[in-house]
Amino acid sequence: MRIGLSFSELESRTDQALDRFEEEFGVSMYDTWYLSFWDASDVSDSDNSSQVLDGLREDCSWTQTADNEIVFGWADDLDHNGIAYLNGFYAVGSENPTHPFDWPEKSVAQHEISHNFNAPDHGYFGPYCIMTYLYAYIGVDKWCSDCWDTVYGNIWIVEIALKQTLIFYLMKWWLSYE
Ligand SMILES: [Zn+2]
Ligand SMILES: [Zn+2]
Repeated sequence: MRIGLSFSELESRTDQALDRFEEEFGVSMYDTWYLSFWDASDVSDSDNSSQVLDGLREDCSWTQTADNEIVFGWADDLDHNGIAYLNGFYAVGSENPTHPFDWPEKSVAQHEISHNFNAPDHGYFGPYCIMTYLYAYIGVDKWCSDCWDTVYGNIWIVEIALKQTLIFYLMKWWLSYE
């Protein structure tokens, strides 16, 4: 099993994803990390991405109090690279998935946060876009024009009401660290 990332590595890879939203959509992104508030293991199957996502929402709803706030949870090993609520406020990523294709962390964050802004999955093969699994896997950080329009529209619906900032609460939970 791969050794987990240091916190500073994970933070910089997450920031790479947040930077893409700032560059493309003209939005300010603020991120706050909480390293010991979330326990991802309190679900019946702690590798199950869907259960862990529901668990994040249940455990961390205290942070999510406005439409410009998104909560992203990093866990160690899950059965997918990540999962998110479509057009929602919560997403999780796996640093070290048991899934056979381990995407770069920046791709996981960019892809899952895009789901929160209602961009759909394109499947394994599709347009040159972060929402196509193949391109996420090889680290492409572009959106196709359809996804770009979707994310842009969703961000700015929120932002017009909320002072042009998006706030990210980033939760970190390492299941298997000693
Ligand atoms: Zn997806
Ligand atoms: Zn797309």
